Amino acid sequence: MTQKFDVVVIGAGPGGYVAAIKAAQLGLSTACIEKYTDKEGKLALGGTCLNVGCIPSKALLDSSWKFHEAQDGFAIHGINHAGVTMDVPAMVGRKANIVKGLTSGVATLFKANGVTSLQGHGKLLAGKKVEITKPDGSTEIIEAENVILAPGSRPIDIPPAPVDNNVIVDSTGALEFQAVPKRLGVIGAGVIGLELGSVWSRLGAEVTVLEALDTFLLAADTAVSKEALKTLTKQGLDIKLGARVTGSKVNGEEVVVNYTDKDGEKTITFDKLIVAVGRRPVTTDLLAADSGVSLDERGYVHVDDHCATSVPGVYAIGDVVRGMMLAHKASEEGIMVVERIKGHKTQMNYDLIPSVIYTHPEIAWVGKNEQQLKAEGVEVNVGTFPFAASGRAMAANDTGGFVKVIADAKTDRVLGVHVIGPSAAELVQQGAIGMEFGTSAEDLGMMVFSHPTLSEALHEAALAVNGGAIHIANRKKR
Ligand code: FAD
Ligand code: AMP
Repeated sequence: MTQKFDVVVIGAGPGGYVAAIKAAQLGLSTACIEKYTDKEGKLALGGTCLNVGCIPSKALLDSSWKFHEAQDGFAIHGINHAGVTMDVPAMVGRKANIVKGLTSGVATLFKANGVTSLQGHGKLLAGKKVEITKPDGSTEIIEAENVILAPGSRPIDIPPAPVDNNVIVDSTGALEFQAVPKRLGVIGAGVIGLELGSVWSRLGAEVTVLEALDTFLLAADTAVSKEALKTLTKQGLDIKLGARVTGSKVNGEEVVVNYTDKDGEKTITFDKLIVAVGRRPVTTDLLAADSGVSLDERGYVHVDDHCATSVPGVYAIGDVVRGMMLAHKASEEGIMVVERIKGHKTQMNYDLIPSVIYTHPEIAWVGKNEQQLKAEGVEVNVGTFPFAASGRAMAANDTGGFVKVIADAKTDRVLGVHVIGPSAAELVQQGAIGMEFGTSAEDLGMMVFSHPTLSEALHEAALAVNGGAIHIANRKKR
């Protein structure tokens, strides 16, 4: 007899696994189909995020930062030690253990919540039936009242630099180097390129980032992107803007890369090359021809504001649909869809999805940036507070960067919080909480912040919006 579930989820990334757990919690019979297997050939839940994305990249960023600090950052504290060395396989092994712990944790959560975990490739057929192709090649069809498509994304390949998984790698390969490459090239100065470039640069690689655009970090506030370019360059990343890669040739264990910039054609040789030019939605063999679900012109599953596809009872979430490719966006879409299946009127606030780049200093923002608001003709007041004036940042010897709060000049409502500096991601989240409740800069300024904390920089930046900062000279006078 055909099995039937209230909800069938295809894909167990942060979109799919969170949706499945939520559905089970709300009393819906739920199955989640996943095909990804780890190096040992075992089913590994958690998607890109847990296996080859957010978590492993942060594990390497944290390890490499500790090494960098041990080498260059301890003497100022009076800690003198010589001969710090890096065991790269041990660092990569630590990362693998974290991944294993988290992915098996998702399997445990499935069991605890009563989610049926099915291994194989899921494909949506007509009439909300789902075909599963199992690892042994056999197929089974299950039925669902509701289907949630959460198949995620994969790295974009570009013809000038085809990934060979040896010298030329994508982001997944760049998490697995067993030794520090001497000369490392990175194509793309996006979030992933900057994070992975930083990891290997801290461990001693000479890193060159080739970015086709003339503008650095286009999505960030201009003040933040300027500061980021300055700091990352000082750290040793050679970021070449306006440099479009046009070809490459692997010669044994090195690769010669051709690119063009304003001066014409150039070549540069690397020992490893990371292609980090973005990600594309995964829809291969996901939809039967008569499934009724349509893709948009860019290949994403077409959905409305509530992640409903063109077929009633079929939804799509996460990287496979429009919007930012972020784990927290995928998870919240999963929750929204499941609650709506249960009849709630849940909405998601797409205007307040924080963005983070885990370089050092961290870069994070929520809401709109100053150039966007100016282009929209919105009059704003801006308050900025540098970490160089923060006692807590000084104590930690981590004083680079600033907090910038942007408020509507007429209403004082906070429209954007932009941070480059220590714990930027956590500070921006505080801004996001306030903004969700419609905070004004004055509200933030009137709150009591613990001393000494990095959060005080947010407090002071909010005060500076109306000329009331205490620990810096105010640009704007009251
Ligand atoms: P995915 O996580 O891609 O999961 C989809 C799952 O579906 C996969 O496991 C796949 O095997 C499975 N699947 C696909 N098709 C089928 C099918 N037909 N049948 C069965 N299973 C299928 N985001 C952040 O928010 N913060 C970060 O710090 C961050 N860092 C990143 C670092 C790197 C190096 C990378 C690559 C990404 C990073 N991201 C980060 C992005 C984040 O990983 C993605 O946005 C997120 O994983 C998307 O979640 P998802 O559930 O939509 O898809
Ligand atoms: P993101 O989409 O944030 O991951 O960033 C990817 C970056 O790669 C973008 O800024 C692109 O401009 C850049 N990019 C794409 N193709 C090329 C190329 N051929 N050469 C150099 N940079 C590229």
